[in-house]
Formats: sequence, structure tokens, C-alpha cells
Amino acid sequence: MLLLTCPYCGVEADETELTPGGEAHITRFGADSSDNDFETYLFMRKNPKGVHFERWRHAYGCGKWFHAARCTMTLEVFGTYKAQTFEPPKALINKIKKKRPNWEGFVK
Ligand SMILES: [Zn+2]
Repeated sequence: MLLLTCPYCGVEADETELTPGGEAHITRFGADSSDNDFETYLFMRKNPKGVHFERWRHAYGCGKWFHAARCTMTLEVFGTYKAQTFEPPKALINKIKKKRPNWEGFVK
């Protein structure tokens, strides 16, 4: 079972209380962008085998969106943080690098 702690209300919720929102930190492009940028925004996702940054919504709690860093192979959760960021917090990046020395690091 996947357990994530909502960074807003502090509740540790299992996945039945949450709604997944896909990959976090995606650069959004509007309809006036190039076809290539718009296609990348709509369809291209990393889908890594390992550390992944995701969007989740505390649907049956406070209702807010947040981000989570977890491993897609082991389901280990490295941490959660508020969604109003352009990249993960440095402390979380350092925590992941300590646990996974071969991890390439956050790449947008
Ligand atoms: Zn919450």
C-alpha cells in the first residue's frame, strides 16, 4: 500500500484517499506554442524505473494538490512537498541522493 503524507494538513493517507495527477514539474505550453512543444507537453512523460516525481491530490481530505517523490520499483516514498514549486526542495534531493548514490538527480 502506498502511504503519502499530505504537506498541507499533515495527514498520512493511503492511495484510496488520494487521486494521482501524473508526472510533476511538467513545462506547460499553450495552443500558441510550436507543434513540437505542445506535443511534448501533452504526450511525453519520463516513466522512469526508479525515482519519480508525481502530482497527487488529497481528494478525501483537504483537497489540495501536492508533489511526492517515490521509487517506482520499490514504492519507497522519499518525501512530499507543496505543489507551488518549480522543482523539488534541495533537502529532498539530498535525501534521495544519500539513499540512491547512482541516481542521476532531478532533471526537468
Ligand atoms: Zn491534505
